[in-house]
Amino acid sequence: MPTRPIRLMIVAAHPADSFDQAGGTLAHHAARGDSVTAVVTTTGVRSHHWELAEKKREMGAEFDVEASVQKAVNEKLEEVRAACRIMGFEDVRDLGFEDDDILVTQDKIEAIADVIREVKPDVLIGHHPYESGGFKMHGTVGQCTIYAWQLAQGTGRGTQERHPVPVLYFMNPTAYVGNNSLEYAGTSRTDLYVDITDVIERKVKALDMITSQFYGGPYSRKRSETSDGAYGQAASVAYAEPFQRFQPQVLYYLPITEHELEARDEGPGFGMARRGEVVGGLMPLPPGMEYTSASRVAKEKYTT
Ligand SMILES: [Zn+2]
Repeated sequence: MPTRPIRLMIVAAHPADSFDQAGGTLAHHAARGDSVTAVVTTTGVRSHHWELAEKKREMGAEFDVEASVQKAVNEKLEEVRAACRIMGFEDVRDLGFEDDDILVTQDKIEAIADVIREVKPDVLIGHHPYESGGFKMHGTVGQCTIYAWQLAQGTGRGTQERHPVPVLYFMNPTAYVGNNSLEYAGTSRTDLYVDITDVIERKVKALDMITSQFYGGPYSRKRSETSDGAYGQAASVAYAEPFQRFQPQVLYYLPITEHELEARDEGPGFGMARRGEVVGGLMPLPPGMEYTSASRVAKEKYTT
């Protein structure tokens, strides 16, 4: 346990990434009295405001996207603020980058470095720099975050403050490994799981807020089992969030928890029962929503 409350700052490519990749972990820290700042770098509107995408599909060039962008940006930010509030933190910063502007650029790096200098986090959480999620924006923002972390360590220019962040983690580092033929996990690995079983209900409710992406309802419950539940399966708990440290931790003793000590004497049935706990998937749906098989693919559609 640290001797003072710590400051955590998460840098997310898209609005929902600010809590759906590491939100359970951040909820633990917020509840302990640590401060949490979520930096939402892009609006997420061009790549996954599905309502706008659907209108564009239906109306083609006739649909004036630009006329709807600001409203959509505000909607997404409101959704994410509501979601973060459920996870126990309020400080959500919006950098307003376009999410179809995918290059690693100096202005993106500087903007993230400026927030680091202002917030002065002890722990920085970003995307893995080679991760391809969200039109590759996760990797772009992950790279920008590492460069910003390096920039903030330096002297800066003019009156810029200096803030070296001691610890940098990548969230959900293997999220897209196996999803496409470019992700091969060369440098992506999980070296730390956080057991989020006690806050999984809050995470499902937070996901319910993201209606512009149709995350709410059946999907958020399914996601709790297939993503957080799958990581839990690997960690031998019900639900977990995975992380990768950028640099190895330096300690005096080899770390071992009380839970690890007890595991030696724990029967195999106990561990499987712990893994088998279902909470998120059994939560009641929001009013007016239902599970449906209407979107299933008919087997004939798989004829090649
Ligand atoms: Zn994303």
